[in-house]
Amino acid sequence: MTGWIAVAGLGPGTEALITPEVSEALSKATDVIGYIPYVARVAERPGLTLHTSDNRVELDRAIHALTLAAEGRKVVIVSSGDPGVFAMASALFEALEAGPFEWRALDIRVLPGITAMLAAAAKAGAPLGHDFCAINLSDNLKPWPLIERRLRLAAQADFAMAFYNPRSKSRPNGFTHALEILREECGDDRPILFARAVSTPEESLRVVPLGQATPDMADMRTMVIVGSSRTRLIERPGSPILYTPRSAE
Ligand code: SAH
Repeated sequence: MTGWIAVAGLGPGTEALITPEVSEALSKATDVIGYIPYVARVAERPGLTLHTSDNRVELDRAIHALTLAAEGRKVVIVSSGDPGVFAMASALFEALEAGPFEWRALDIRVLPGITAMLAAAAKAGAPLGHDFCAINLSDNLKPWPLIERRLRLAAQADFAMAFYNPRSKSRPNGFTHALEILREECGDDRPILFARAVSTPEESLRVVPLGQATPDMADMRTMVIVGSSRTRLIERPGSPILYTPRSAE
């Protein structure tokens, strides 16, 4: 039996946003590896072993997957959204680069998924229709001064900005500080989107001016998007549409 690894993105939540390519890999797998809530989204079946682990052991999980594939198993590593966006694909390649040379002969594929940023943007309208950037606000894997520098420079360059991992219980103050920086650089009127649990039954969307944004509007299931100076709101019955025009002038 020839082993392989597919690093697959499960999309933001709903089954409808899982690509057929990912479903096919899952149907052929012998082993699925991932963080507990992501593995819970994979249906059990005979012949499939589900391996769950805590979120902070990405490298161990990658080594586990490589070891299983080297033994001939067919392994899918699952991430939410896209596996290349603040997720397992990079962790796998870090383990591959540092590991035994034989691992490099393994069949390894990255199967893209719909990342939270794009799912959230689509629900709100088209806030990322012109130039934008994505920043992970967690300081688990990088120092806070670097986050602050990137935030300021992105705001000054007038990008629309998408923020992953905005706020967690272990980092309650970072997002408060991020909002202060954004208000300083973008002013109080700039629209900010809080898109929580997009494409799940708990989904909620809220757009407010930066001056009215409070830290408790975000948690670890929230995608935050701040518009550029060109981003506009179309008011209408129900929720407004948030969009950024195609041209800069
Ligand atoms: N690889 C994932 C991102 C992992 S980082 C992807 O491509 O989407 C985890 C962060 O993604 C969360 O803290 C949150 O900011 C965002 N996120 C993931 N799923 C989400 C969803 N359904 N709705 C809103 N934000 C989500």
